[in-house]
Amino acid sequence: MSHSPQSKRKTDRASAKQIKQSKTCPVCQLSFDNRKKWQQRGLWEQIIYCSARCRGNAKNS
Ligand SMILES: [Zn+2]
Repeated sequence: MSHSPQSKRKTDRASAKQIKQSKTCPVCQLSFDNRKKWQQRGLWEQIIYCSARCRGNAKNS
């Protein structure tokens, strides 16, 4: 009989640096949030419209 002390400490302290940003689409006036794919690519700062559709509508004005 072997006694093995299992002391598993889970210190999951993920630095919560949540970037909660939201913008308002100038076309449909709807607020949209940052998307993961934008955030990963660093595109969020460049995002103006909520979708490609609105981007096209803005150009067609
Ligand atoms: Zn829009």
